[in-house]
Amino acid sequence: MDCKTLRDKLQQAGVAGAGGAGFPTYAKLDERADTILLNCAECEPLLSLHRQLLALHTEEILSAFEQVACTVGAERAIVCVKKEYKAAIQAVEHGLESGLYPHVSLHLLQGVYPMGDEVVLVYEATGRVIRPGGLPIEEGVIVFNVETMYNVSRALTQEAPVTKKLVTMIGELKEPKTLFLPLGTSLEEAIALAGGPLIQDYAILVGGPMMGREGRKADPVTRTTNAVLVLPPDHGLIQRMRAKISVDLQRAASICCQCRACTDLCPRNALGHPIEPHKFMRSAANRDFSDPQVFLDTFFCSSCGTCELYACPQSLSPRTLITAYKSGLRKAGVKAPADPQFAPVSQAREYRKVPEARLKARLGLSTYDRPAPLCPESCQPKKVRVFLSQHIGAPALAAVEEGALVKEGQTIGRAAGGLSLPVHASIGGRVSHITEKWIEITAD
Ligand code: SF4
Ligand code: SF4
Repeated sequence: MDCKTLRDKLQQAGVAGAGGAGFPTYAKLDERADTILLNCAECEPLLSLHRQLLALHTEEILSAFEQVACTVGAERAIVCVKKEYKAAIQAVEHGLESGLYPHVSLHLLQGVYPMGDEVVLVYEATGRVIRPGGLPIEEGVIVFNVETMYNVSRALTQEAPVTKKLVTMIGELKEPKTLFLPLGTSLEEAIALAGGPLIQDYAILVGGPMMGREGRKADPVTRTTNAVLVLPPDHGLIQRMRAKISVDLQRAASICCQCRACTDLCPRNALGHPIEPHKFMRSAANRDFSDPQVFLDTFFCSSCGTCELYACPQSLSPRTLITAYKSGLRKAGVKAPADPQFAPVSQAREYRKVPEARLKARLGLSTYDRPAPLCPESCQPKKVRVFLSQHIGAPALAAVEEGALVKEGQTIGRAAGGLSLPVHASIGGRVSHITEKWIEITAD
C-alpha cells in the first residue's frame, strides 16, 4: 500500500491520536521517518488501557505497526513498554517470535513520569532530542499510541471507523474497569457502567491525575478521553484544580523560596529545553518584566505538572501559572520564539526522574491503585452526543438532519477542508438533536 492510500483510509475512518491532543493520524504519516514508535507508557498514573489492549490484541496491533513501517519506509518500528507491564511484554515477545514482523522490536522503559511524553519517549527509545517546540518527525520519528494503532488495524482490515474509546474508569467506583465506550457517552453514564460511585457527592477528573481536567457529569467521552477518575470533592487534586490563579500568584509571592526544585525536576529542562520554572515564578510573583525571555520560554512547557504536583516543597503552582501566562501571550498574538537556544541533556537527568509509585503516593492516589480489568464487549448507552471537533484541525460538518435514522459506523459529520476528520455514529438510533458542536443520537 502506498502512503497516500493509507492516509485516505485513516482519514475516512476518523483515526486520530487516541489520547493527548487528538492529532489526525493520517497527517502524521511522513516518508521522512526512519523510526516509528509504539507508545505503551500509559503516561499518567493509574491508567491501564494501553497495556491491556496490547496484551489482548497483540497480533492486530503488531501487524498494523509493521504495515505502517513498511508504508512510510521506516527501518525500525519499536514497541516501547514499561518494564512492569509483564503481560503486555510477554504477549509482544511471543508475537515477535513468529517472525512475521521483521521491522518490529521491543524496548523496555523505566516506570517513571512522564515517560509517555513524546519528547521524553523519543529520547529514551532513540537517544534523539527533539528541539524545543519541534515535532518528532524533525528527528525522523513518528509516535503512535497503542489504541491509535489498534484503530489503524481496524481501519485497514475491516474498514471500521472509530466509534469507541477505551477508557480506564477508576477511583471511588464500585467496579473499576477499562471500558470500550461509544463516543459521546456522558461521563455520568460511563460512571454508572462502572458500577456507579461509592460516594454520593463526587468530583470527576478526566484524562489523568497529572494533566487531566475537572469534568461535568454531562461531558461526553471523546476520541482523546483516556481515563475517568472519580474522587471526593475535597481530594487535594480537585482542590488544586479549583484554586484561583490570583491566590496562586499571591502564594508564590509570599513563599517561593527559589529552591529551584521545580526546575531541577522539570523533564523538559533536563533534556536541555529552555524552561526554568523557578525563574518564571520569581518574575511572575514580583511582576518583574525586565527579562521578557522568562515569559516567552513558557511556550516550551509541556504542562506535565511535575513541578507543581511533585517537586515544589511549598505546594506552589508553577504549571498553572505558566499555563495561564502562555495562554495570555497566545491571546495577545505572541508566537513561540522561532529559534530557541537549548542546552545539552543534563548529566543529572538520570537521577532526577520521578518514580511512578512515589508520584502516586504524593498525589494521594495509592488507595485507588487497583486493577481496572478491560471488558472487551462494547457498552450500549441510551444516548450519545458525538462532538464534531474531537481532534486538532477543523471540526467536521454535520452530514445528517434531525430525525434521521442512523446505523452505528455511519458518517454523520464529514471532514471539513484542510486538516480535519469525519465523525461517525457511535450507536444506532435516531438523530434527536443537532447543534453547532455536537450531534445527539438516541438509541432505538
Ligand atoms: S509543567 Fe513544570 S515540570 Fe512540566 S514541563 Fe512545565 S515547567 Fe517543566
Ligand atoms: S520548587 Fe516551589 S518554592 Fe522552589 S523555586 Fe520552585 S516554585 Fe519556588
